[in-house]
Amino acid sequence: MGKPWDACSIFFILSGKRGRMHPELDQEDCSSCGNCVEICPGEVYQWIGERPEAVDAEECTECGACEEQCPVHAITMVDD
Ligand code: SF4
Ligand code: SF4
Repeated sequence: MGKPWDACSIFFILSGKRGRMHPELDQEDCSSCGNCVEICPGEVYQWIGERPEAVDAEECTECGACEEQCPVHAITMVDD
């Protein structure tokens, strides 16, 4: 398992700077584990029914934690 926090992530979080990437979540692959909701520092995800959705993608700090911690690789960081 890779480490979710690197120097670039910490810079974005501390500076509050918004980047040009956002997460995309494949609902069909999601196992509803809740990792992304729990770990996201920007509170991007909210439960919509049985699965989370990235409802506040503009708050993404590009830390990459959700992509790293998703056990089924349902989250991909993509360009805006
Ligand atoms: S990369 Fe994922 S965990 Fe990090 S701020 Fe963006 S949505 Fe949240
Ligand atoms: S971490 Fe992945 S499997 Fe778990 S709730 Fe989020 S998208 Fe679904």
